Formats: sequence, C-alpha cells, structure tokens
Amino acid sequence: MRLNIDDRFNQQLPADTVQTPSRRQVTGAAFSFVTPRVPSNPQVLHIAADVAEMLGLSSADLASDEFRNVFSGGKVIEGTRPYAMCYGGHQFGSWAGQLGDGRAINLAEVQHAGKHWTLQLKGAGETPYSRTADGLAVLRSSVREHLCSEAMHHLGVPTTRSLCLLTTGDQVLRDVMYDGNPEMETGAVVCRVAPSFIRFGNFEIFASRNDLKMLRELADYTIRHFYPAIETGTQSGYGDFFYAVCQRTLTMMVHWQRVGFVHGVMNTDNMSVHGDTIDYGPYGWLEGYDPDWTPNTTDRTHRRYQFGNQPQIALWNLVQLANALYPIVGEAPPFESALQQYQHDFNREFTRMQANKIGLSEVIEGDEDLLDQLDAVLQLTETDMTIFFRLLGNVKKSADVASGSDFLSPVRDAFYAADQLTGEVLEPWRDWFAKYLSRLNKDSETDQTRREQMNRVNPKYVLRNYMAQLAIDAADQGDAALIQELYELLRDPYSEQPEHEKWFAKRPEWARHKVGCSM
Ligand code: AMP
Ligand code: MG
Ligand code: MG
Repeated sequence: MRLNIDDRFNQQLPADTVQTPSRRQVTGAAFSFVTPRVPSNPQVLHIAADVAEMLGLSSADLASDEFRNVFSGGKVIEGTRPYAMCYGGHQFGSWAGQLGDGRAINLAEVQHAGKHWTLQLKGAGETPYSRTADGLAVLRSSVREHLCSEAMHHLGVPTTRSLCLLTTGDQVLRDVMYDGNPEMETGAVVCRVAPSFIRFGNFEIFASRNDLKMLRELADYTIRHFYPAIETGTQSGYGDFFYAVCQRTLTMMVHWQRVGFVHGVMNTDNMSVHGDTIDYGPYGWLEGYDPDWTPNTTDRTHRRYQFGNQPQIALWNLVQLANALYPIVGEAPPFESALQQYQHDFNREFTRMQANKIGLSEVIEGDEDLLDQLDAVLQLTETDMTIFFRLLGNVKKSADVASGSDFLSPVRDAFYAADQLTGEVLEPWRDWFAKYLSRLNKDSETDQTRREQMNRVNPKYVLRNYMAQLAIDAADQGDAALIQELYELLRDPYSEQPEHEKWFAKRPEWARHKVGCSM
C-alpha cells in the first residue's frame, strides 16, 4: 500500500514513558504509544473514494488485504508507531480532568500532494485514556460518523474526514437507549483523517497541571506545523495563534448554523484547533426549524448545546482555551481583543449568511428585522428548515400576497402541518412575505439569478437522522448499498438530483422521536 509517511511530525512531542495500556493519569507527556486491538474478522463496509484519492491510495491499495488489516487495527504500518493523545476538557461547563483518546488511536502521519494528514482509527481498542469504557465503537455510531463527516465536507463545512468504515467481526456490549437493556452490537472502526486531532483540551490539561513546559511545547508544535505563518515563542505569536483559532471557529459556527447542524456535545475536548467539526456523537440535523432543539438526550434539561446556543458555546470554549494559554503568555495577553473580535465578526458574518439564505447579496437597513421576523414565523408551526430555504428560491418577485392568493404555495411542502396555516398563523406569514417581496424588488437581480445564488448556500440534501438510521439498519444486515447511495447523494448536496428526489422530503412520522446515540 502506497502511503507516504511524514517523518517531520512523528513523535516530536514528549511521549509517555510508561509503555502499558493500563488506564491511568499520564503526566509530562502529550501522548502514549499504544497498539491497536487485532479484530477477529475485519470486513470493509465502505470507503470514501474522495478521501482515498486525497491520500493517494489506488484502487489496488483499497482492495488489498493490507488495507483491510491496517484500517481495522490488525496491522501496524511499517515505520510507524500508533499513539493516543492526552487531553482534558470542560464537559457541560465543568472541568472534567484528564480525558484523552479513550477509543481513538493515531495510526500514522502521512503526506500526499503537498498536504499533511493524520490517520486516526476510532474504535480500535483500549488506551491509557479509556477510563471505565472499552475503547470500542459500534456499527451504528460508526456509520453515522463516516457518512456525516463526508456530507459535511461536501456541504462546505470544515470537518475531519472519514476514509473508511470496517466491521471488526467482534461483538460490543452497549446500553441501547431505546429500551434501556444492554445489548451486543456489531463492532466497527472508522479511519478519520485531519491535519491533526489537537483539541482545546490538549492545552487545558497541561494548564490544569501547571505543566508550563509541556504547554509551551504543544503550543510551539501546533503553531510551527499548522499555523506556519505565525511566529513561535513570543507573546504576540501566541496571541496571533489564538486569534486564528477564534476566526476558524467562527467560520465553522456560521456554517453549522447555515446548514442546520447540531453537534450535541460541544465540550472543549470536542473542539479542534483547526476549526474542524470533530467527534460526531449524538449530532443531529434540524428538521423542523427550532433553535431550542438538541439531539442529545442527556442535555434535554439544560439544553446547553441546543442549536441556537452553538455560537455562544463556541465563544465560551474559546475563553477556556484563552485561560489555558494564559500562563505561557504572561502579562496583558492579547486574548481579550480576539474574543471581542469574534463577537463582532460573528454577528456580521451570521447576518450576511442569513441574508444570503433568503437571496439577498447585501445587507441593508431593515434586513435584520426581516430576518428576525422570519426566525419567528418559521416557528409558528413545524417548518422543515432545509426544505423551506431550498423552496424559497422558487418565489417570484412578481408574487401576490393579497387575501385569497396562495402566496405560500412555493414553500408549502416545507410545512409539517399545512392544515394549521390559517388565521393567526397565516397572517404573520403574509406580513413577512409582503416585506420580503418588497425587499426583493429593491434588488435588480432576476428571479433566476437569485435562485441560483440561493441554491449554492441552501443545500437540497442533508443527512437526516432517519436516513442514517435506514443505512444503519441495512448495514446491520450486511448490506452496505444504502451507505453508498447516501454517500453519493451527499457528495453533491446543492445540485438537483432528480433520481434521488425521495431524499428531498420531510422526515417521515415514524422517525419523529428517533435521535442519535453517541456511543
Ligand atoms: P465523547 O463524549 O465521545 O467526546 O468522549 C468523551 C471522552 O470519553 C473521550 O475521552 C473519549 O475518548 C472517551 N470515550 C468515549 N467512548 C469511549 C469508549 N467506548 N471507550 C473508551 N473511551 C471512550
Ligand atoms: Mg470526544
Ligand atoms: Mg422554541
């Protein structure tokens, strides 16, 4: 198998000197060497062709026994030493101490076409950071991570990628949430791909232990390799690094809000310093537009990570990163201004993004009110976010909202309860459409041009929870055809795909209360 190992990266940070997988506190080290677990009967279920190509893997490579063995954890690539990273994190707002890669193992650092990538197996067995769990992953969560990583990438959202999905042939004990009874499930492994998997929590763990030497080494390593335009070792360099992380995080947040993605577990250990979406657990997609919605059943009381809170939570997480970096920066750190800039820039970019979603290429006086009012009317009855914005592109400037006119007809398919669109619900919509049409008529763009622009920011196809569930159910029976069908569909989410029209539909009623599970 042709993989170019990138030796510039391997083991430049201090390694754990204790060489056993026993679960423990690891100090004075950024990572521990580990050996992936050998699976009993690994089978390739799906390969993301785009990611394989990005890594320079040929079709012969993908079909080889070596591929199957390496990416299930059964064989270590020659010249590499797999490792798990040490990190901590704030979980649901509280400091949680050491967490670390409990079921993720970095296989290798590789390069292709001038780019560096870290390959990471998720679900390949225990590490010193596995705490009380088994280091394994089940097919259900692995299908969800594999498909969603690639769907997000093709939607234009910064994310870790997923090369492949394999079953291990081993059974894994899990507590299935639906009935509360523990069940054996099919074990699986995905191979994630990213420049690195360094998280805010990697910095926090050293700060929490007052290990300034490690903190500085990690910061310098991260800057040197991943933010090469920034100088290392100086107060202003660390300030620039933090500023860059703030800006990348902001970009990711605007994209999440644009496509209706809810991460579900925005703990600081799930925040990448690259501003990539990372750790797909109980994530979900907004179907009915509802800023209060969270897919995470363990967060249904406080709703800390609900859709509408995500940008503020990202800021809160950035404050934790600033606190972690503070000890190596010293007096008067330049973090405050980066955080203020985040708020200022986020508001501007968020408004611009929302304006683009309704077909306005510029924000002018009054547009923010129009957007606020839309946010309210969308919640009058259950309205499918993806379908609504996509269909809104079909509205004509010449439309009529007079009483008796069917002004909602272009977007009617977005409503889950169209029969409720009368009286008190209909009038606010009429009012909004009247203002919207008058705003559209201030622009000189044609209906056609506006529609094309809108179709580039409003996806037609997203990975609805029930779609992933159908793919999981089939995969459980050994049939990966639906994984491939959804993978192909979601590779081109902004285009019309008439042969796939059935996926441009509201969530079926049976799927209403199904949510994702993280483990
Ligand atoms: P998460 O909520 O998935 O981001 O995980 C939080 C922490 O729990 C991380 O340190 C994970 O590595 C760890 N973890 C989650 N699931 C497992 C598992 N099955 N085995 C070992 N560690 C796990
Ligand atoms: Mg995590
Ligand atoms: Mg609400």
